[in-house]
Amino acid sequence: MRIFFIVLLFISSSFATNVVVSYPYIKDLVEKIAKDKLEVTTLSDGRFDPHFVVAKPSLILKVKRADALIINGGQLEIGWLPALIKRASNRKINEHFLELSRVVKLSEKPVSVSRADGDVHPDGNPHFIFDPHNVPALAKTITQFLASLDEKNSQFYKNNLEQFLQEWKTFLNGYDHKMSKLKNLKVVQFHKMYSDYFRRYNIQTVATIEPLPGVSPSAKDTFKLVKKVNSEKVKFIVLSSFNPKKSALFIESKTDAKVITLPADAYEMSLEQMYDRMLSELNK
Ligand SMILES: [Zn+2]
Repeated sequence: MRIFFIVLLFISSSFATNVVVSYPYIKDLVEKIAKDKLEVTTLSDGRFDPHFVVAKPSLILKVKRADALIINGGQLEIGWLPALIKRASNRKINEHFLELSRVVKLSEKPVSVSRADGDVHPDGNPHFIFDPHNVPALAKTITQFLASLDEKNSQFYKNNLEQFLQEWKTFLNGYDHKMSKLKNLKVVQFHKMYSDYFRRYNIQTVATIEPLPGVSPSAKDTFKLVKKVNSEKVKFIVLSSFNPKKSALFIESKTDAKVITLPADAYEMSLEQMYDRMLSELNK
């Protein structure tokens, strides 16, 4: 009898629809809608640079086994995911593919794109997840996608979406209120990772530590920034957990600005916890 159940469990689990996503925040959103009806696997674990995820063989295997693939898009994965997809050669993900950037209007779209401008994001800033006001549109498009992927549970997904949207509205009201106290604050970011977040809450990004996107700062760049941080009375130097700290710490030692580290993704936490972590860093 016990063996029978184990066999049954194995069969049912091996037939569960396996949704592979590029980043942990997408996993959290899919699980908010799908609960335990689908298996969800993330490729990046969210601790490292989202622009360059190392294409380990285990990741190729994950893409090979996927029934569907959901990505951030906006060219955030352009440096690592196409090679993985090619090597996995899994036809199912061509049919069942969702790019979340489709439902977001990307900010900071460059007028012209040239290699001289560094490793820019030619479609605009793809780090839209950090603006919590983008979450409802992302949750809605994920729900539509899951409902078409797994029709028998489509009503379940739609009901979960309704409930989540209600909860998110409450969360956002409280969050916006707390963030309103930080408006007009000035920051320097390492990369324009949190631009959408800061713009949403009227926090001004005075400069970036990297002189161009994807380009490391020289000593001269850092010296220039010290002047700017002092004259503009910048309060925080904002890093992501994976950024090198050297330039930021040097600027901190020469100014009144303070280095803070914001999460690079919802690594081992929910989206709500990620935004709360950002808020608490900005209140340091
Ligand atoms: Zn970027």
